[in-house]
Amino acid sequence: MTKPHEVGGDIESYCTKCRTDTAHVIVALLEEKAKRVVCNICNGEHNYRVPKAQRAAIKAAKKKKAAAKRKTTTRRRRVVPKTPAEQAAADASSVEEWTAKLREITEAEIVDYKLDGIYHQKDLIQHPTFGLGFIEEVQRHRAHVVFLESKKLLICQDAKKNLASAE
Ligand SMILES: [Zn+2]
Repeated sequence: MTKPHEVGGDIESYCTKCRTDTAHVIVALLEEKAKRVVCNICNGEHNYRVPKAQRAAIKAAKKKKAAAKRKTTTRRRRVVPKTPAEQAAADASSVEEWTAKLREITEAEIVDYKLDGIYHQKDLIQHPTFGLGFIEEVQRHRAHVVFLESKKLLICQDAKKNLASAE
C-alpha cells in the first residue's frame, strides 16, 4: 500500500533532463495522482513520468500476460469427428431429408425398435419416442443409435449371446 500522493511529497519519477529515475517533489496533483514534479537533482519541473524501472516491470508483466493469452487462444478445441449418420442428422432439416440421407448410407429396411430385437451396425430402426434411428454401433446388449435430434444408447438383444445359446 503506497501512501497517497500529496503536493510537497516525495516521489520517484523518470527525469527527462537527468535521463534516469530520480527523487522528485510533487508540485501539482491531478485526480489525486502526481501530475507535475520537480527533480531533486536538476531542479527541473516536468510532468510526472512513471520511473523507468517501474515501466519495465509493467511492460514485462504485459508481455507475460499477452504470452499467456496467446497460449490459450492457440490451444485448439478437440474436434470430435462426426459419423456419417451424425453428419446426416446435423445436415438434415426435416425428417424426410434425414430419412433420405440415411437410406443413402444403408440399404437396410426400417424395423420397429424392440427391447428384445437383434440389431446390427447400419440398421435403421423406428423408435416410438425418438423416431427414426441409425444403428451406429452394437455393443453386446446395447446399441448406439443416432436419432435426428439426439444420440441414444438403447437396450437390445445380445446377438452373440443369442447365437451362443442357439448352438
Ligand atoms: Zn532531473
